[in-house]
Amino acid sequence: MIVLGIETSCDETSVALVEDNKVLANLVYSQISTHKKFGGVVPEIAAREHLKKLPALFNQLLTETQVDMMQVDGIAVTKGPGLIGALLVGVSFAKGLALRYRKKLVGVNHIVGHVYANHLVYPELKPPYVVLMVSGGHTLILKTEDDFSVKLLGRSVDDAVGEAFDKIARLLGLGYPGGPEIDKIAKTGNPKAFNFPRPKMHDSDYDFSFSGLKTSVLYEIKRLQASNVSELPISDLAASAQEAMIDVLLYKVTKAAKDNDVRKIVLAGGVAANSRLREKLNEYTSEFEFYIPPLEFCSDNAAMIARAGLELLKNGVDHGLMLEPVPNLFEMDEIAIG
Ligand code: ATP
Ligand code: MG
Ligand code: FE
Repeated sequence: MIVLGIETSCDETSVALVEDNKVLANLVYSQISTHKKFGGVVPEIAAREHLKKLPALFNQLLTETQVDMMQVDGIAVTKGPGLIGALLVGVSFAKGLALRYRKKLVGVNHIVGHVYANHLVYPELKPPYVVLMVSGGHTLILKTEDDFSVKLLGRSVDDAVGEAFDKIARLLGLGYPGGPEIDKIAKTGNPKAFNFPRPKMHDSDYDFSFSGLKTSVLYEIKRLQASNVSELPISDLAASAQEAMIDVLLYKVTKAAKDNDVRKIVLAGGVAANSRLREKLNEYTSEFEFYIPPLEFCSDNAAMIARAGLELLKNGVDHGLMLEPVPNLFEMDEIAIG
């Protein structure tokens, strides 16, 4: 079965063709350089950029793969969660194609898409497994029970961890996006230089909170400035803040896995690229098996949407032209694919 995937929930415009577990092509246009000067994603600009890039990216996909729309069995598009304007562009484009080529159309939950990215990379991976989904928009612990149901075990009650990386980077005068900048500069810093709080670490739930940490970094900077230090110890501050975030993430996800009798842990989302996080996984490898998809499938992409949509199409689902985006789709404990 060949599925066309379309993803426009945030700041990546992406189209992909997936044949069962094989990715024929996955094209991603990142808008990072456009939003950089604003220090974050501007929703209206994101929507307009999707509109500008999507048709050309789609044509490029067909040219590169030499696949004809006649060979495509169905179209899968992200229906939410995400920015309403951005989602609307993808959903409208997908509807246009479904109408023009008379194809089945399914709307996919973006979060479930992230989970399904693993089936492209690790076809042998079977539920149950726990997912630590860490991106600019989400910090979640999920548990896949079977091929269809994903359960929400925990989430950030305020900032997503990627967002915290970005905000802390801004406080430290580093560039955007802040995650990779902190990752890089932290390598030369001492993670024990400052003892930043590990919010909610020992609570019995699996939820996170990262906004207080950002405030602690701000206070530390103010304290240092007031004490007239000649230069802020940026790398020590970055390394210590990063360590606090990683400690909480790893403690909670391994606790969730342990409590649920699960050995397999999957990492997803842009923050999964963090080198210190990957290094610290080594401390847990005797107890757990970790799966980390390559970054191309960890961050936002249409191949994962196509792969999740394939599951719906295989089971005869067709949402048709009544499909509408749902920006706040992610408000429930049991998460459906579409
Ligand atoms: P979502 O997928 O939830 O809609 P998003 O598009 O912002 O949100 P991604 O593209 O998956 O998410 O990830 C981007 C985030 O990952 C940014 O916050 C960025 O700072 C962070 N990030 C990227 N690389 C690293 C790294 N090496 N260390 C820490 N954080 C990183
Ligand atoms: Mg993104
Ligand atoms: Fe995402």
